[in-house]
Amino acid sequence: MEFSLDDIKLFAVDLDGVVYRGNVMLPGASSFVATARERGKIVVFVTNSTLRPRGYYAAKLNAMGIPATPQEIITAAHATGRYLGSLFDGTSPSIFLLGERGLKEELEDLEPRYLTSQDEEAAQAVVVGLDRKVNYEKICKAVKDVMRGALFIGVNGDPLWPVENGFMPGVGVFLSAIETATRVKPFIVGKPNTYMLELAIQQWECEPSQILMVGDKLDSDIMMGRKAGAKTALVLSGVTSPRELEEAPPEMKPHLAARNLAHLEEILFHSR
Ligand SMILES: [Mg+2]
Repeated sequence: MEFSLDDIKLFAVDLDGVVYRGNVMLPGASSFVATARERGKIVVFVTNSTLRPRGYYAAKLNAMGIPATPQEIITAAHATGRYLGSLFDGTSPSIFLLGERGLKEELEDLEPRYLTSQDEEAAQAVVVGLDRKVNYEKICKAVKDVMRGALFIGVNGDPLWPVENGFMPGVGVFLSAIETATRVKPFIVGKPNTYMLELAIQQWECEPSQILMVGDKLDSDIMMGRKAGAKTALVLSGVTSPRELEEAPPEMKPHLAARNLAHLEEILFHSR
């Protein structure tokens, strides 16, 4: 192992493809989390999700026998609220939102003033999450406001959104539409950017090198961890095949790889 477990204070664990797939827990997930906590590690869950509030994921984990509170879950939607909070500092920004109820719930603390596509006034921020009721008028409003100087923020930049039986178009599709028209690049809160790990670093007062990022995706989980200066572990229980891992360029490779969380538990906690 390229690092010592004693140096790790916090485990940042991705959800989909790592802890569960759909509603099915993956092998070793509950035992992994329990063992990490027994050994004094902080365990938090980090997901690019934009649709649901943190409480939903806490309840889902609890139902699988993995104790978790909403405070231990960092979603990209929640992180977007924190990011806007840091920019507007208690001054209720005007927002034009492409997004649904779960994202709105996470922005509540900002006491935002939401504009509609009919409003002439330009929003201070255009926030783009997953919006299954997107239409031409909404895209028009977003484009106009970004052109008039609104901050352009993507909750994540994922081209696809994994669902039960395959994929649907993700947030990145809407961002591309707005970017094509405005030629402005969005600030993307979610992975592979490091903002969510920076929140964890602040909140649990640790150094980047004291974090082990555990994920199933090289170009999001592992890239975020590496960019932040964290240690990284890839599990092969999700989207990455052993062959993709083998063929990945050195800067994309994780510090550690395991078949699933049961195997990672073996490697980290029971092998010496
Ligand atoms: Mg995943």
